[in-house]
Amino acid sequence: MTNPSLLILPGDGIGPEVMTEVRKIIDWFGAKRGLAFDVSEDLVGGCAYDKHGTPLHDDTMAKAQDADAVLLGAVGGPQYDTLDFSVKPERGLLRLRKEMDLFSNLRPAQCFDALADFSSLKKDVVAGLDIMIVRELTSGVYFGEPRGIFDEGNERVGINTQRYTESEIARVARSAFDLAMKRDKKLCSMEKANVMESGILWREVVTEVGEDYPEVELSHMYADAGAMQLTRWPKQFDVIVTDNLFGDLLSDLAAMLTGSLGMLPSASLGAPMANGRPKALYEPVHGSAPDIAGQGKANPIACILSFAMALRYSFNQGEEAARLEGGIETVLANGLRTADLMGPEGGTPVSTSGMGDAIVAALDASL
Ligand code: NAD
Repeated sequence: MTNPSLLILPGDGIGPEVMTEVRKIIDWFGAKRGLAFDVSEDLVGGCAYDKHGTPLHDDTMAKAQDADAVLLGAVGGPQYDTLDFSVKPERGLLRLRKEMDLFSNLRPAQCFDALADFSSLKKDVVAGLDIMIVRELTSGVYFGEPRGIFDEGNERVGINTQRYTESEIARVARSAFDLAMKRDKKLCSMEKANVMESGILWREVVTEVGEDYPEVELSHMYADAGAMQLTRWPKQFDVIVTDNLFGDLLSDLAAMLTGSLGMLPSASLGAPMANGRPKALYEPVHGSAPDIAGQGKANPIACILSFAMALRYSFNQGEEAARLEGGIETVLANGLRTADLMGPEGGTPVSTSGMGDAIVAALDASL
């Protein structure tokens, strides 16, 4: 049997630095857990522009379409700010998301106990938090027509259209139910069915899809009430599914419950491929951090946690993903801190590679 394929796109700035640490973790799983991947690496973003004059070469796009999963670092940097919009580094990322049709964006909010003090909320509200926001990513008000700024009488009017088809709602709902089945079997759907017809349809379709998942406890909440509940007592939730606009806001809110940008992974999933795996792109939420690039200061954990998501959601290796998350928990509990995690209580400072090595050591100790 051939190994599953993993396309790695380190990108720009701190992307290659954090990805070097992920490669150590991937090698560890190959050597110690018999979980080998066929790994290939390519360019995306500014470095692809430097070499090919485009932020994503067609060959790289084709490789991404064929890969069992794509893992991306980050793109961008000040040297590319003056480039034409069509070849800016971010266009490479957007092309990947669009052509792979990644409609389901997974944003976990997971609080490691050792970092609970980093949250703006009280420690007991966030310690042990582990929730997942599923945001519809390719439709809704950011894409609906008509849109634009038009003249109307003596003034201008700005128009955007919230538009969802049943099939668009059903496919993201299905992906959220599938996720709930791999977690605590609890799903909360958020919309504004009290004031929006698209919300009424959203609620109806999610309920219909739910009939195929009798084991999952489904609830519905208005998105504004959901925002309040997320800050009041976030641990009441497991998986939340919502549309593009509400998901944009709620996923940022939920992620920041847990503190540092250097800790936040994400996944964007599309339709299942012939082998049953979803099209998938895993990436940290943070950017290329040019202010600290090349100095060994970047926290690699967001990118390593993105690989943990790949283990769980592309490769059905939930136990190994939990092993990796447990290794990270151990390292943080032992007080190791990259600069971004250094709070008032102090800790042992480590570099990017020091953090990666410590996580590998914790994985060794887990055997
Ligand atoms: P950023 O996320 O790169 O950095 C924001 C701040 O967080 C910086 O102070 C940075 O040093 C810090 N930071 C980010 N990741 C960190 C990590 N892993 N460890 C420690 N500290 C970390 O956002 P920005 O400064 O607004 O953007 C910088 C560049 O990245 C821009 O070119 C932007 O377009 C691009 N960007 C790319 C992505 C992506 O690739 N998905 C996302 C956001 C921004």
